[in-house]
Amino acid sequence: MRVTVWNEFIHERNNKTVEAIYPRGIHATLAAQLGERLPEAEIGTATLQEAEHGLPAAVLDATDVLLWWGHLAHHKVADEVVERVYQRVMQGMGLLVLHSAHLSKIFTRLMGTTCNLRWREADDRELVWTVNPGHAIARGVSQPIEIPAHEMYGEYFDIPQPDELVFISSFSGGEVFRSGCCFKRGKGRIFYFSPGHETYPVYEQSAVCDVLANAVGWVYQPRVSPIETGESPNVAVDWWR
Ligand code: ZN
Repeated sequence: MRVTVWNEFIHERNNKTVEAIYPRGIHATLAAQLGERLPEAEIGTATLQEAEHGLPAAVLDATDVLLWWGHLAHHKVADEVVERVYQRVMQGMGLLVLHSAHLSKIFTRLMGTTCNLRWREADDRELVWTVNPGHAIARGVSQPIEIPAHEMYGEYFDIPQPDELVFISSFSGGEVFRSGCCFKRGKGRIFYFSPGHETYPVYEQSAVCDVLANAVGWVYQPRVSPIETGESPNVAVDWWR
């Protein structure tokens, strides 16, 4: 299984608070956390600043699962790279969309809605509740996950109804949010997970990373057959006789 962690990698270089939490970037922390939990996986990273954002066709073609963290620079992601990611999802690549990537070009394209939500930066306590305990992404995850201080993301979250809902979060301000949502598009699987605001050490929390590792396993689909569409030759029409 080949996993690529993509990060825009901007906050960590222009904000001292974020740099102190993620000195080598969110992507490096996520790659290390997944590496501990998925020792059989080959894990690479890619960032916005690299040529083709680190996602040339050769890298994407070899990627089974892509993680996406972005916030400030959604508009700087080249449309041709977004198209390439989209086509790989249609072919069966798994995609994990993290936190503020709810407004990324790739996620809004895949959802077809605005993906807007309510938000507040006020050190709310977040509790991530499992609402689908039989789901592979919830396996072994503590109930609930407590994030002592986090950005609030609340409803209404303008997404299509998720194909499967795994987590709902509540916040000390009283809001609730569908924080762990599964979608299927083409032959690909997508999981949106909202924890991960850059000024809190959320990706240092073991239970959060357990969810991410489970989610990599759920979106991963080895050996997806190529899609075959187009004109078809005539076949016998009397098959029902
Ligand atoms: Zn945020």
